[in-house]
Amino acid sequence: MSIYKLSNVIQTYDWGSLTSLNEMFNIENPQHSPQAEMWMGTHPRGCSKVADKGIALSELVVEDTPNMLGRYTAMRFGELPYLLKVIAADSPLSIQVHPSKTKAEQGFQREEQLGIPIDASNRNYKDDNHKPELVYALTFFLALNGFRPISEIISLFKELNLHSINTILQSLLAQPNESGLKGFFKHIMTLSGQDKQQALAELNSALTRPAKSRLAREAFHTIKKLSEHYQDDVGLFAPLLLNIIELAPGEAMFLHAETPHAYLSGTALEIMANSDNVLRAGLTSKHIDTVELLNNVTFTSTPTSSLILAPVEKASRLSYPVPVDDFCFDIVSSTESAQTLYVRSAEVLFCLDGEVLIETPQSSISLIKGESAFISNDSLCYKLSQTGTLARAYN
Ligand SMILES: [Zn+2]
Repeated sequence: MSIYKLSNVIQTYDWGSLTSLNEMFNIENPQHSPQAEMWMGTHPRGCSKVADKGIALSELVVEDTPNMLGRYTAMRFGELPYLLKVIAADSPLSIQVHPSKTKAEQGFQREEQLGIPIDASNRNYKDDNHKPELVYALTFFLALNGFRPISEIISLFKELNLHSINTILQSLLAQPNESGLKGFFKHIMTLSGQDKQQALAELNSALTRPAKSRLAREAFHTIKKLSEHYQDDVGLFAPLLLNIIELAPGEAMFLHAETPHAYLSGTALEIMANSDNVLRAGLTSKHIDTVELLNNVTFTSTPTSSLILAPVEKASRLSYPVPVDDFCFDIVSSTESAQTLYVRSAEVLFCLDGEVLIETPQSSISLIKGESAFISNDSLCYKLSQTGTLARAYN
């Protein structure tokens, strides 16, 4: 029981980068595949392996859960409650919303009772958990997150002056509140057939005119980039409705339940609760259940300034505060002079650069850039030395 080097699953999805994981972390890519995500954790769809033992990390945890995870985590969650990922997006991911804990419990129970198979394309709730997420940028990282102020949405659509949207825009002008925004969002999400073709054609032609403001320039530019990948998709309206945010390397943001968001490009670390619950809202060829989606969206504006997480500095680590207890996330700088960290649950460490020596009272391990390790709760503490940077996941 102590510290184990991990061998991790790489998920190859169409939107993944061919080069990023290799160039940044020396992760091999012999098949030249789009390496979208590397998963560090015990999720059944991509469980890490304990490198020396050749067994799944989940098996190691199950052998002695209270000592591996700690008594509190074993009782509260019964499993490693978080999943740490490196994600590398070359092209945009779908726009999505994650349900709240309550709605996930209700939705999961309902779909179980209806007998919808867990892997069916019309299944929305794969488990009964919420899925809060934190993303920490490793390169410049472009995303959509949360609704813009309603005044901004109105001004962007006014500038575009789309005939087929103008009537419903009048309703938003008359009712610039949550209920007006819900009606407007619903109208756009449910455009279909001839109406959808017409609206998208008008959007395309309006984008050929020069933008009048910085805000419009940024939104129009983003739509044009999305339209290189999706032509016939109402998700092309999303940059007009949602905040466009570009994280600089080292910046992080939290993604709240019931808030539409999409990752567009860049490489980042992502940590999330152990859940697969995703409701899609555009930029996808997959199933969109509009009724369920509208039930799971909160129609309030999120100011961009509130999206970036200000880290708390504690000695040699930056701690990113999140409003959930499924995970904690730190960036730790290791130097020649040793420092001791105390373990309060199971931890996953990922080396971002340099080389770090990690010593527990029982054993030691050295991590270089791109390598990761699991530390069991019964290690109690560990000492870091040598120069490098670690991402630290725990709860
Ligand atoms: Zn998400």
